[in-house]
Amino acid sequence: MPTTTRSSGRVGARLRATSKVLPEHARAHNRSLVLQHLFHEGPTSRADLARATALTRVTISDLVSVLIAEGLVEELGTRPGQRVGKPAILVGLRGDAFQIVSLDLTDAAQMRGAVISLTGQVVERRTLDVDGRTGEELTDLVARFARLLVAQATCPVLGIGVGSPGVIDDHGRVIEAPNRGWYDVPLAEVLTDRIGLPVQVANDANTAALGEFTYGGAASGMLLLLVGLGVGAGIVVDGIRVHGLRFAAGELGHTTAVDDGEPCACGRRGCLETVLSTRALRSAVEDKDPTTADADLAEVGRVLGTTLAPVVSALNLAEVLLSGPADLLDGPLREAAQETLQQRTMPAVSAGLQLRMSSLGQDVVLLGAAVLVLSAQLGVS
Ligand SMILES: [Zn+2]
Repeated sequence: MPTTTRSSGRVGARLRATSKVLPEHARAHNRSLVLQHLFHEGPTSRADLARATALTRVTISDLVSVLIAEGLVEELGTRPGQRVGKPAILVGLRGDAFQIVSLDLTDAAQMRGAVISLTGQVVERRTLDVDGRTGEELTDLVARFARLLVAQATCPVLGIGVGSPGVIDDHGRVIEAPNRGWYDVPLAEVLTDRIGLPVQVANDANTAALGEFTYGGAASGMLLLLVGLGVGAGIVVDGIRVHGLRFAAGELGHTTAVDDGEPCACGRRGCLETVLSTRALRSAVEDKDPTTADADLAEVGRVLGTTLAPVVSALNLAEVLLSGPADLLDGPLREAAQETLQQRTMPAVSAGLQLRMSSLGQDVVLLGAAVLVLSAQLGVS
C-alpha cells in the first residue's frame, strides 16, 4: 500500500471529468482544478498552480484565499533549497481539515466501516455484525453504523461514502440488491436525510475500482473483479468509470461461464459466480490434497480467463485486478487465468496486459467510498 505517498498528500491517477462545464460553473470548476492539483501533486506554489491549471495568477490567488478561509488549504512555508529570488510560498491541502466516513457492505455477515483522512489514511476502523438483516432493517442498521462512525471522527466530516453490492444508479439509488432485500431503495437520499450529512452510494466493485485507480496506482484502462459472496467488476476505460445503460456495467458474475453448470441464485445455471464466489472456491478445495486443490483452482482460472478474454479485447485494458481472498485467488487460479487470456486474445491485446491482485487489500472498497465523497464534495478523484 502506498502509505508514504498518501501521507504526503500526493496521490496517483485522476479520473477525467466527463460532464460539460457551463460558464456559471466556471468558478466551481476552477476550484476543483486547484484542489485536484493539490490532491495529486502535493504542496505547490501559487505560480506553479497557475501554470498547471492554465488559470491566471489573480484567479489562483483569489481561489487559494477562499480555500484557506474555508480551512481546506494552508500555507506551508517555502520550498527547501531554493536560493535565487524571492522564495515562493507553498500551499497544500490540509489533511486534517475534514475526515470522511466510509462503509463497505460487501460482506453479507459483517459491515466494515472507517474514518478516513482526506489523503487516504485510515484513522479509525469498526465492524458490525449484520445478523441476517435485510431490507428496511438493514437500512436502519447502516444508518446506525454510519452515525457511530461519524461520532468517532476527530474533525468535521465531509461526507459519507458507501460501497454496496447491487445495481446502483448515479444518484445512489439501489435498483436491485437481491441478497440485501433492497429493490428500488433511494439509499443515498434516505441516509442523507437521517444523518444530516451528504451520502454517496455506489456499487461495491465500482467503488473498489475507484479506490485502486485513485489510491492504488492502477492503470487508466482497468477492470477490478471483486470476489466475495458474489462476483462483480468495476471498469475504468481511458480514465473514465464505465456505468453502462442501466448502471449494470461490470455485472460479469452472472454471465454463463459453465454450460449446464450449477444452479445460480439468479435462477440460471453455470454463472461465473457459481465457480468463482468465495463459497464456491472454498468448497472446491475443501478436503482435497494440495495437488488436486491446485488443479481445481487452475480450472476455475481457465474459466475466468475464457470469460474475461472478450471483455479485455473489446476494451483493450491494461490491467485486470483481483480483489478477494489471496489464498484462493493468488496462485494457480490467477496464473491459469493469465495464461488463458494470453491464449485467447491477439498479441496487440495481451502484450503488457497484467492480471494481478488488488494492491489495497481489504481496504479497497473503504478507500473507494472515500473517493466517492471527495469527488462529489470537492471535485477531486
Ligand atoms: Zn447467476
